Amino acid sequence: MSVQPAKRDENPATAGRRFAGIDDLGDLHGRRVLLRVDLNAPMQDGVVTDLTRLQANAVTIKALAAKGARVIVLSHFGRPKGKWDASQSLRPVAEALPVIIGLPVAFAADCVGPVAKAAVNGMAPGSVLVLQNTRFYPGEEANDPEFTAQLAELGDVYVNDAFSCAHRAHASTAGLAGLLPHAAGIWMKKELDALEAALGSPKHPVVAVVGGAKVSSKLDVIGNLVGKVDHLVIGGGMANTFLFAEGKEIGKSLAEREMADTARAIVEKAKAAGTEIVLPVDGVVAREFKAYAENEVVSVDAVPEDAMILDIGPASIERVKAVLRQAKTVVWNGPFGVFEMEPFDLGTNACAREAAKLTREGKLLSVAGGGDTVAALNHAGECEAFSFVSTAGGAFLEWLEGRELPGVKALAK
Ligand code: AMP
Repeated sequence: MSVQPAKRDENPATAGRRFAGIDDLGDLHGRRVLLRVDLNAPMQDGVVTDLTRLQANAVTIKALAAKGARVIVLSHFGRPKGKWDASQSLRPVAEALPVIIGLPVAFAADCVGPVAKAAVNGMAPGSVLVLQNTRFYPGEEANDPEFTAQLAELGDVYVNDAFSCAHRAHASTAGLAGLLPHAAGIWMKKELDALEAALGSPKHPVVAVVGGAKVSSKLDVIGNLVGKVDHLVIGGGMANTFLFAEGKEIGKSLAEREMADTARAIVEKAKAAGTEIVLPVDGVVAREFKAYAENEVVSVDAVPEDAMILDIGPASIERVKAVLRQAKTVVWNGPFGVFEMEPFDLGTNACAREAAKLTREGKLLSVAGGGDTVAALNHAGECEAFSFVSTAGGAFLEWLEGRELPGVKALAK
């Protein structure tokens, strides 16, 4: 097991402010800008059901169009695995885009070759064109130089606004930066700045909240945070593994009992690094895993043999709130309990509310992201109040792990 605190300069996101932005690209009037965004929005029966990601990228599309650029939008959609697949066409997304950006949007039925070239040649300054799904070609995910060159032929400059795809070294997310003058889009810069503020050079005390189901899936996250943050609050099913490792009886709770040694090693590492690990002191337990299951609050020293912990209890909530109140920065990933089932969402809701309130009062910088976190904060009704909520799932987690993101690294060159 490796629980190594990453060195500050290992994380490319910490260099966020050094990236060129679209204002550094000179006069863009009439220039062909290949803009990589993330149009991989959830869709049902050909209709986009969640516009969050499109709204994030819309700012950059509009800004480029306002500069008179010919905005050529690149994105993947779904997982067609390098083959043409009409069900994964970007056309319906391109059709949803005008409502969001307030501009007409053209669509080209291919992303390279004569069809794409003809569409680009027909563009007026300030117009927007969406090219077909880049993943229809195997060269996209393979970051194939020939495919990358075909894309590059369509543009004069490259702008990457898709932080959520930055953990992939694909042709349109990384390769293009090697062939064209490039810059980070407005949303990409916003993400990088937020990450920089949260962990690059944050205001202390810094609190990390890591919740969710399994320690094993977030081992690298915890390993990277230990030593960087002042308090590491562990919640959700993950906390159960730590409680078990302390020798507590946790009944039928979700836990990775085989990870007890790892959990103990993390605790030791944290002690040595000066990071306080904050674990629940009480829990809401039930005998059935279902909404409104009969439940009671017990101390973590008195979990009945036949019960499972499904949320943190009121004393733990107060403890987490107190930690948040004395913090200047919080970075948040994962829920405190089974937030999808009432009333086991109370712990997550209460802690999210406190972070949101402190943020509104200007006392706390709050950055959240990754997997279910956005859903949990939305459920708590507090997503908007956070200083920054990343639209990225995998990329946010990889950043939390202190990994180098190829899409970000490529832009830094
Ligand atoms: P993750 O994807 O790792 O962030 O995990 C999120 C999931 O963890 C959610 O679906 C929660 O329902 C689940 N979870 C949180 N706390 C618990 C718990 N005490 N027991 C079982 N599942 C939990």
